[in-house]
Amino acid sequence: MGRPTYDFEGTTVVITGGSSGIGREIALRFAKAGATVLNGDIDREPKDATTPTDVVIDEQYGDGEYVSTDVTEREDIVELVERAHEFGGVDVMINNAGLQIPKPMSDVTPTEFDRIHGVNSKGTFFGTQVAAADMIDREDPGVIVNTASISSDLAQREQVQYDSSKGSVKMITRGAALEYADDGIRVNGVAPGQIATEFTEGWKDQAEEMVAEDELLKPVPLGRAGTPEDVAGAYLFLASDDGAYVTGELLHVDGGWQVC
Ligand code: NAD
Repeated sequence: MGRPTYDFEGTTVVITGGSSGIGREIALRFAKAGATVLNGDIDREPKDATTPTDVVIDEQYGDGEYVSTDVTEREDIVELVERAHEFGGVDVMINNAGLQIPKPMSDVTPTEFDRIHGVNSKGTFFGTQVAAADMIDREDPGVIVNTASISSDLAQREQVQYDSSKGSVKMITRGAALEYADDGIRVNGVAPGQIATEFTEGWKDQAEEMVAEDELLKPVPLGRAGTPEDVAGAYLFLASDDGAYVTGELLHVDGGWQVC
């Protein structure tokens, strides 16, 4: 069927939450395509592998950097984006860091609400704002891709706190696409479905087991959970020149989950 090959040689990609899961695969895929990749994550150690993303990139592809970053702190994001100046400045910003705390709405504490919205919504808002300002200052417009979710549009049980944060990511993406279009900056989102990662501790094993038993996620029309490898290519497409006329879009990569 073929798979596109992308050329991101000379491109600097900044990603948040690139140590594990979906973000790690995105970072590695961009690096493989020739990009320099800066990973801004709160933890350098991957949850689902042994070697940090930046080390794998240095050893196998080119330039990888880790920048200790808590996306709930705007100053951390500023430092992350400024670090990219050493490599010519951010061309592609991927706001991917995220977390969930599944539980009934009635049990959610203000601290938990602030944590989820701080990472998912505030982190995406200021990641977009800071990267766009830097591109405008350098007169070098680039691309921003945010990690949304099927939860951006559809409610899931015991996930009001998460769904509302990802609904926010969708509207940050659309609003920023409008605001920065005149500056030549495109802003898009990817909405993954149920992807086997350590997003919820142990879920990866559970997903693999359930897939093996053919019981997992029957509502997924394609009949299986997704993998980070299924999702990463969407980010490369949206960041590439093939996506030059795409902005404000939420690209679902969910095995058809949202259609029924
Ligand atoms: P993951 O837990 O494997 O990776 C999340 C990464 O974000 C981790 O490396 C973590 O250290 C980092 N992170 C968390 N808090 C941070 C903070 N304050 N500052 C910086 N980094 C922080 O999860 P994943 O499944 O790879 O999820 C990645 C993104 O995809 C998230 O935004 C998530 O909401 C979204 N998503 C995941 C799924 C899924 O099924 N796995 C589905 C839809 C959307």
